[in-house]
Amino acid sequence: MNEADSEKLAAGLAKLGWDEAARADEADLAVVNTCVVRQKAEDRAAGYLGKLRKLKESRQGRLQIAVMGCMVGPRTDDLRSRFPYVDVWARPQSFEVVLRHLLPDSDLGGEFWPETFPEPKGPTAFVPVIHGCNKFCTYCIVPYRRGRERSRAVDDIAREVTSHCAKCVREVTLLGQTVEAYGKDLPADDSGGKPDLASLFEAVHETPGLARIRFLTSYPRDMTERIVRSVAELPKVCEHFNIPLQAGDNDVLAQMRRGYVIEEYVEWVHRIRGLVPEATLSTDVIAGFCGETEEQFERTLAVLEKLRFDKVHVAAYSPRPGTIAWRHMEDTVPQEEKMRRLHAVEALQERVAGEINARLVGTTQEVLVEGEKEGVFTGRNRGNKLVHMRVEEGRGKKEEGVRLAICELVDVRITKATAWSLQGEVAAAVGV
Ligand code: SF4
Repeated sequence: MNEADSEKLAAGLAKLGWDEAARADEADLAVVNTCVVRQKAEDRAAGYLGKLRKLKESRQGRLQIAVMGCMVGPRTDDLRSRFPYVDVWARPQSFEVVLRHLLPDSDLGGEFWPETFPEPKGPTAFVPVIHGCNKFCTYCIVPYRRGRERSRAVDDIAREVTSHCAKCVREVTLLGQTVEAYGKDLPADDSGGKPDLASLFEAVHETPGLARIRFLTSYPRDMTERIVRSVAELPKVCEHFNIPLQAGDNDVLAQMRRGYVIEEYVEWVHRIRGLVPEATLSTDVIAGFCGETEEQFERTLAVLEKLRFDKVHVAAYSPRPGTIAWRHMEDTVPQEEKMRRLHAVEALQERVAGEINARLVGTTQEVLVEGEKEGVFTGRNRGNKLVHMRVEEGRGKKEEGVRLAICELVDVRITKATAWSLQGEVAAAVGV
């Protein structure tokens, strides 16, 4: 979401005549778009601001510094005293605050923002479709910083996708903190129905040039069978679901206020696998949440073992000031123990993902070529697995003047697999 926000701000700046500087020490403006979802991310933002302070001093103040994103809450007094050299503070997506600071007289009304679409940097693009979150999980800062769920109009999104695809984007990821909540806050149409994620898939599906649609992040309680069926039925929608689990124990889930019990979560996974047999699944887990006992953590490991995800993102719990957990719960699990649990999840997942990926050796996977380094191309298959590929003898040799193009969809025969990626040889262009 932050990447998408940064690109939107860059597009607004470009519209007003600002160019991207090649290096930080040549820039007139540095915007630090911050994430504070974990302590580590916040520390990195603070460290980077320290570097910019030195740069600003060395340039006698000719560099302006803006900080945007989740680090900026409703009150900035603390931040201003911690970082007095920062010129402007802007909350997430407060693009106007930055632009008005730089160019107070510019006209940002009317069609300025609706028609400002980020400049794609490659064959894939993120497209936010719903902002904010209504869920208030006890550990999470997002609803306080990004506000309540607000869906963009279907037409706005379709225009953005069209603009991307006119510039060689082949794959869009429709983004939301809880993407299946898309449309709930929109007015009903003439037939009395509201758009949902499934109707959004349909609305963008036929965009010329578009080959793939992804969506991120799922929230179990917002999932509907209609959405899952549309993933199965619409050929451009990739069969990949990222559904945060966070914990495998019902008491921990209740403490987190995740809004579901583990039995419901498991049922959704089974339902998805029943309707979309080729689906790949990834998830998020928090290790060492307030009060989590060894026994409760073991239940998380058992769920991961049982459901066998393709990928697990695991983080050690870190209290976020302002959240319910920070205000009312004790951070009881020592840091070393959190790290031990985190490593236990990683070890289990390395084995599981290694086994899942090994079964793909010998299969042919459709891959979108996204980059190249020293003759090895990289891309992702429909299931969002990273694929490194070489071009087979007789196809794409440099001396023959034929190159595999970035943005091309190709069939790749998988020859090797690890827990983290696949390797293979390009067999044929899919030619969508
Ligand atoms: S669903 Fe929970 S964890 Fe996800 S953004 Fe909303 S409050 Fe945060």
